[in-house]
Amino acid sequence: MKSYDLAVIGAGPAGLFAAVKASNAGLSVCIAEANSRPGLKLLVTGQGKCNITNSVGLPDMLKKYGQREKFVRKCLYAFSADDLTEFFNGCGLRLTERDDGKIFPETESARDVLNCLLNMCTKSDIDIMYNRRISGVSAENGRFGLCTGNGNEPFASASSLLIATGGMSYPSTGSRGDGYLLAEQFGHTIIVPKPALSSLKILPDALHFFRGCAGITVSCSLSLFRDGKKLHSYGTREHGILLYTHTGLSGPVIIDNSRDFRSGDELAVNLIPHLNPEEAGTRLLAFCNSNGKSGIKRFFTEEGVPGRLASAVIDYALSAAESADSGAGLSKSSGDIRCAELSAQNRRKILEAFTALRFSVAGVDGFKKAMCTAGGVDTAEINPSTMESRLQPGLFFAGEVIDVDGDSGGYNLQFAFSSAAAAAKGAAGRNS
Ligand SMILES: Cc1cc2nc3c(=O)[nH]c(=O)nc-3n(C[C@H](O)[C@H](O)[C@H](O)COP(=O)(O)OP(=O)(O)OC[C@H]3O[C@@H](n4cnc5c(N)ncnc54)[C@H](O)[C@@H]3O)c2cc1C
Repeated sequence: MKSYDLAVIGAGPAGLFAAVKASNAGLSVCIAEANSRPGLKLLVTGQGKCNITNSVGLPDMLKKYGQREKFVRKCLYAFSADDLTEFFNGCGLRLTERDDGKIFPETESARDVLNCLLNMCTKSDIDIMYNRRISGVSAENGRFGLCTGNGNEPFASASSLLIATGGMSYPSTGSRGDGYLLAEQFGHTIIVPKPALSSLKILPDALHFFRGCAGITVSCSLSLFRDGKKLHSYGTREHGILLYTHTGLSGPVIIDNSRDFRSGDELAVNLIPHLNPEEAGTRLLAFCNSNGKSGIKRFFTEEGVPGRLASAVIDYALSAAESADSGAGLSKSSGDIRCAELSAQNRRKILEAFTALRFSVAGVDGFKKAMCTAGGVDTAEINPSTMESRLQPGLFFAGEVIDVDGDSGGYNLQFAFSSAAAAAKGAAGRNS
């Protein structure tokens, strides 16, 4: 049985980075990885381009972690986006910032990020053992033993142990929630894992109208209703971007807030968020009065709504009107309906559809498609400076296995790296 100062479970970004940092601090390190290859999830990040972090200042970055702001504070200040950029620059991988603040490798290749980490592991003499799915950990005489399968006989041991097994999202990449079972072995509480950063499925009645809009993105604001009560408004300040998909809605305003949505909720989407409803009504009326021969759609496309979407919204609004009103001209293709042909009632219905387009939520995409897991090892039981367990000395956590989930925009990888740096420092501190 080989013995080390630190054994890491999981060769994702958190595990690989912690191993490099710990080795640089003088520890002998091994990594046990369940798959035959490392970093499978890292390879699919940012659609293969890897949105590694974000240039938003630290105080604003903390807000991207919702209720975990306080917990992540210490490790993000100790190892920030600037530190991460410096690390990768030092390894020869230059990073570049986009206009929206997202930071990617200049090569736009997640593979290059992974290769960079693996090169550092090789240089640092870290033993990576593949096809080793850890099923149990023994803890005797101040040492942790790693076991696979049904066996109780450890194949490696270490004085410190880092669980960096990820969450439960995208299980095809290897993260299936094993880390929770390992943490429970040491008495840790697991906050029930839920898919986060997911798209929304909407009820098929609305879907029928918006199927042709897949791939369209649009600026919007959004309100969430449950049992008829308004719970939240989103995107009003920065006009969140909404993307229509084949099954429902996606894009940052949906993905970042998906933890709030439940099946049965209703969403009201404002597709012209730069106008308040009264202002929009006045402008629409003025437009119709002076453009009687023009199609009604033109008003909305001039306000920034993409043409295909504007047609679908008008169809949707008028389909309800058609059943209530035998309405002359409603059988025409929606956008062609001339302003002069519209009754005041139908004009109001159309306006309402653009300012408060209603969707019923059928559900949130599950773990198979979610980009992140909310829930995991309870942060109350982890020291935020060192990521060491408060229950078991020498046991550390890093990355998505912890009950921390950030918005989209590079915040989850930043937390994976920052928590890994903290854990490596913590493990090194035990050996000094
Ligand atoms: C499609 C998609 C796109 C994303 N894009 C971005 C993005 O652009 N920017 C961003 O910040 N975040 C993004 N994320 C989130 C980000 O990928 C994760 O937050 C990050 O990978 C978490 O790193 P980790 O090391 O904690 O876990 P993981 O990357 O999940 O790695 C965990 C590793 O542990 C291994 N493992 C699990 N159980 C065991 C076991 N029992 N024994 C041994 N090994 C085990 C797994 O096989 C895996 O290799 C994206 C996620 C997805 C799914």
